[in-house]
Amino acid sequence: MNYQVNEKGYYGNYGGAYVPEMLVPNVEELRQNYLKIIYSENFQKEFNDLLRDYVGRPSPLYLAKRLSDYYKTSVYLKREDLNHTGAHKINNTIGQILLAKQLGKTRIIAETGAGQHGVATATVCALMGLECIVYMGETDIKRQSPNVARMKLLGAKVIPALCGSKTLKDATNEAIRDWINNPINTHYIIGSVVGPHPYPDMVARFQSVISAEIKKQLNEKIKRDYPDYIIACVGGGSNAAGAFYHYLDNKNVALIAVEAAGKGIDSGFSAATMVLGRPGIIHGSKTMLMQTEDGQIIEPYSISAGLDYPGVGPVHANLFDTGRAKFVTATDDEALKAAFLLCKLEGIIPALESAHALAYLDKLNAKENEVVVVNLSGRGDKDLATYIEKINSD
Ligand SMILES: *Cc1c(COP(=O)(O)O)cnc(C)c1O
Repeated sequence: MNYQVNEKGYYGNYGGAYVPEMLVPNVEELRQNYLKIIYSENFQKEFNDLLRDYVGRPSPLYLAKRLSDYYKTSVYLKREDLNHTGAHKINNTIGQILLAKQLGKTRIIAETGAGQHGVATATVCALMGLECIVYMGETDIKRQSPNVARMKLLGAKVIPALCGSKTLKDATNEAIRDWINNPINTHYIIGSVVGPHPYPDMVARFQSVISAEIKKQLNEKIKRDYPDYIIACVGGGSNAAGAFYHYLDNKNVALIAVEAAGKGIDSGFSAATMVLGRPGIIHGSKTMLMQTEDGQIIEPYSISAGLDYPGVGPVHANLFDTGRAKFVTATDDEALKAAFLLCKLEGIIPALESAHALAYLDKLNAKENEVVVVNLSGRGDKDLATYIEKINSD
């Protein structure tokens, strides 16, 4: 069994490139060039230099002693929260901006929901001096004003999507329209392991630095390069794909993906795609998707902005189907509780997204001699308003 993408762009039954005819040349250009460019000596040097000196990698693998005592096992945190801009998203945007430069592109477009991918994209555009246009739903612009300010400060132009629910999927439509109209000079930076082939594979490769480092760091710490469990939260699935990547074929490692149950699976306010979804097409690929009887996308909900995506990357749909990864959920309340516990026990304020992964420690029942790695995908500064609201309501 191989869990990587095949030459046709599929993970089992999922993936592919379901794009309008007008977009085929753009996607083809990427498909024909991405591996050649990524694995060239020049690219690897520039990518790794920037990951070290600009992002601050390798991110530490930290043995959380008090959290380990609490759960009576060994819990290591992979500290993606310590990256420049505060999350794992920068690993991917650095990779894609270098690729765009190699392809001779001068203009970058992206879409963003909560604004985190928009900020990561605006950051690398400033770094490289490329024009940056970010599409964002008008509703999201109102809800996420600090991130809109950050993008503008970094020199990006934020264009509101005024159609439909004025959220992420509408921003995606605008970005696709832009790309069709500007095929020659523009690269579209997608922020997770979603979109038409080769995006899911490309993004997973950029994020795979996470598990490459975990292997090396565990080897130094416990003289074994794998843990018993890796836990990661899943929105589109890029931090999980990166944390799982080098362990996909190592069956000694249980891979655990945590989706957002929101106010509860059956509440109508949730983003638990694997529980509530069925196969469908979103963002140019076939995958699991939350949809109505007649195929309309259901608006997802989670307390964490980064997890309220109605689909999931095709790699994860396949890991779910094959049983290679276990998919579980955490509610808003469970995530908040886990976030507060980490603050109190370790002095680390996690992103609400990452708190969903932490919440599963409550149910894992790992043995004392087992080793658990939790991918701490981001820091919680951006979630302070939500945390304060919770403190005041208790
Ligand atoms: C965006 C984000 C996520 C969700 O995206 P994935 O592609 O599923 O990783 C998770 N954690 C943080 C901190 C994020 O910013």
